Amino acid sequence: MESARIARIESAPLLGRRPREAGNNSRLNIHGIDVHLQVMRLTTADGASGFGLCFASREEAGQLLSRDIASLLTDDGRVVKSARAFDFPLWDLAGTLRGTPVYALAGRTEAGSGAPLRVPCYDTSLYMNDLSLDSDEAGAALIAEHARQGYEKNHRSFKIKVGRGARHMPLEAGTRRDIAVIKAVREAVGPEARIMIDANNGYNLNIAKRVLAETADCKLFWLEEAFHEDPELYEALHDWMEAEGLSVLIADGEGWAATALMDWAREGFVDVMQYDIFSHGFSNWLDTGAQLDAWRVRSAPHHYGRHLGNYVSGHLATAVAGFTFVEWDETSTPGIDASTYRVEDGHVVIPDAPGFGLALDDAVFRAAVKDGGFEFSL
Ligand SMILES: [Mg+2]
Repeated sequence: MESARIARIESAPLLGRRPREAGNNSRLNIHGIDVHLQVMRLTTADGASGFGLCFASREEAGQLLSRDIASLLTDDGRVVKSARAFDFPLWDLAGTLRGTPVYALAGRTEAGSGAPLRVPCYDTSLYMNDLSLDSDEAGAALIAEHARQGYEKNHRSFKIKVGRGARHMPLEAGTRRDIAVIKAVREAVGPEARIMIDANNGYNLNIAKRVLAETADCKLFWLEEAFHEDPELYEALHDWMEAEGLSVLIADGEGWAATALMDWAREGFVDVMQYDIFSHGFSNWLDTGAQLDAWRVRSAPHHYGRHLGNYVSGHLATAVAGFTFVEWDETSTPGIDASTYRVEDGHVVIPDAPGFGLALDDAVFRAAVKDGGFEFSL
């Protein structure tokens, strides 16, 4: 890796917006329309730069100033362990310095083939926007309409928030509404689409069984966070599904993931691991994904609510054989130019461009650094 010092560090909050307000999940109230990003740009003395989401504090960031790139990146362009608080800006910088997409560095594949990388994604926007509607028919029709809007934007896989009976509706009414919504979404997006449900730990074993039994004809792809991860209950759910002839995958791992989760994945209780792309980090995900591949467990990083996860997550797909989905939370953020990316036939099309292939609007970013951000320079 070239020798160059980090000569400038800038960090700024940026504010994105979703096209539609995101409603409740099983445990939280309305998620809203705003998406908060904290973006760091690192610039070398030679003027090369990289940027990405980064929550490092001013104090942590200050220690990076004047550090030589050679001490932060390995010879093949990976981020050294001690610098992983700056994972995303450093991967972007490494790719920029080499003229290589991050997915080529990550997968140690040839760069510059000219063909973009295509990685499956799902529309994650189907929140509980129906809670003010009295009838299950009207509620289900609204969420089905949202799924149709995703289909129009080229999505072919969809995740639905369920667990209405955990907090926002009486238990029986909420469970019935969940089932009506799942059936209506399946009807709206056709038999080929993959549909996942996410209970945010709002079910228990018996509710999970009931919902899966009553939606068996919908052929759900995965059930995410049915209840707080528990190997006894997951084993029971697996055994029950086998007896019922169901093959819905068990997905877990976002949020306060149990430390034993990897053990349970190895033992076969969890089929899809979902550690958050930002809190776990890109470099750690490379290690985790390799381990999950060895156990034949799928990888599908969570990232909801940070916008840039739409783009960066899929760069793991060249390195992680079991990479199943990018979670797509449709958002636009003034200052972030992501026009090199698109969603096409249910896939994120990732550009064959240096780094993560995103661009920062300098004027917008500089204004945000001045207004609420921080910076260091040599
Ligand atoms: Mg979730």
